[in-house]
Amino acid sequence: MVMPTELTDSQLERYARHVVLDEVGEEGQLKLLAAKVLVVGAGGLGSPLIQYLAAAGVGRIGIVDDDEVDISNLQRQTIHRMEDVGRKKAESAADFVRRLNPEIKTDIHAVRLTRDNAALIRDYDLIADGTDNFRTRYLLNDVCVQMKRTLVSAALLRFDGQLGVFKPHAGPEYPCYRCIFPDEPPPDLIPRCETAGILGAVAGIMGSLQATEVLKEILGLGDTLAGRLMLYDGLSSQIRIVKVKRRPDCPACGSAHA
Ligand code: ZN
Repeated sequence: MVMPTELTDSQLERYARHVVLDEVGEEGQLKLLAAKVLVVGAGGLGSPLIQYLAAAGVGRIGIVDDDEVDISNLQRQTIHRMEDVGRKKAESAADFVRRLNPEIKTDIHAVRLTRDNAALIRDYDLIADGTDNFRTRYLLNDVCVQMKRTLVSAALLRFDGQLGVFKPHAGPEYPCYRCIFPDEPPPDLIPRCETAGILGAVAGIMGSLQATEVLKEILGLGDTLAGRLMLYDGLSSQIRIVKVKRRPDCPACGSAHA
């Protein structure tokens, strides 16, 4: 497919606040329109992610979620509405995108990501993980390492959030998720959102930070978060950044070459 070399008049109008940024410009906006991002999880993190990626003009957005909208989701999953209760989240999210920005293509994957269907990530340039379960998080990490896809992964609990960019294929200094957290915690030790709770706005903050890192990676802007981990503490209103390193003996990326 031949990529367009300039924006149409209506695109220039819609994306005017991007185009006016020297760091983005028309060229950057064309990159966003050509980008394909897979969002895994159309919930608390997926809502701001999908919203900002669609608004920003990311041309194709895949949405993976096998769940249905429940009334208890509406406290934080802001792209779904009362009338969506009972619908598949992936479909409700795709409708949201259509209403906001009809030129964005959406792929609805109303499935749970497993090793058997994980090959679907091959169709995307970049993967954003907004799931609430460790099994999917580790699976996504391992598949992204294998397929050399950048993974932007966020997690939430109560008043806290965590965000990282993982791209061991891009250089030996960049770790994967498993370099930092080698072992999947046993299921009975994992506090889940439904039992531990979550302040809704914290999901909005973390999902928005995650969307920012996705856009930075597509545009090649600023300092990548890869090699660092961002920790947000909502109660003390503090963000901490810690350096993280590649583990040479990591079972997922130990043998991956830059
Ligand atoms: Zn690793």
